[in-house]
Amino acid sequence: MGLTVLSGPSGVGKGTIVAAVRRLHPEIWVSVSVTTRAPRPGETDGVEYHFVDAEEFAHMVKVGEFVEHAMFAGHAYGTPRRPLEERIAAGAPCLLEIELQGARQVRSALPDARFVFLAPPTWDELVRRLTGRGTEDGDVIRRRLDRARIELAAETEFDEVIVNDEVTTAAERLVRLMTSSSH
Ligand code: ADP
Ligand code: 5GP
Repeated sequence: MGLTVLSGPSGVGKGTIVAAVRRLHPEIWVSVSVTTRAPRPGETDGVEYHFVDAEEFAHMVKVGEFVEHAMFAGHAYGTPRRPLEERIAAGAPCLLEIELQGARQVRSALPDARFVFLAPPTWDELVRRLTGRGTEDGDVIRRRLDRARIELAAETEFDEVIVNDEVTTAAERLVRLMTSSSH
């Protein structure tokens, strides 16, 4: 099974690590999720996410287009089924970057996948990163930090933990796990 699921609290650096993996290891296929949240400055439809409205998302759920889907801080997120199944069937190394509820759904559907938790060096550093990104207002940051406490408590459910101290080092650790045969 060439599927790896990367999870971890909002602001820990999942998007940054995945961007580094894409840049350094273009042979790894990264799933593009669907979301109802608005694009952040610099995000492009079809690259970081497929951006849709709530109605379109609900339709996609109804017709079974998602492997998993979940609500996070007031918005819906889901992993499109078809491209992932095609890449797994082709034997490609595949990476999903999703939150905890989605990771649990994937564990039920695809128990052979590898589950990796990205952890912050400290709680204070997580708060600094989430606040420092500057893309959310205070209320949204508070909701994301509330979720972060829940997500951090679930670290032990995962097969591996990577501490995101330095971006390239953490990205290379992830790639090494993905390409090792121990799972
Ligand atoms: P997530 O996708 O987990 O919500 P992001 O990738 O958006 O997190 O990262 C949150 C913030 O932390 C961004 O401003 C990013 O530049 C910064 N960041 C990510 N990784 C590191 C790191 N290893 N050291 C310092 N800052 C980081
Ligand atoms: P953000 O809005 O910061 O990009 O993402 C918020 C959270 O949603 C992050 O924890 C991210 O990993 C998660 N996420 C992104 N795509 C998906 C998805 O397809 N499914 C699920 N369950 N979570 C996702």
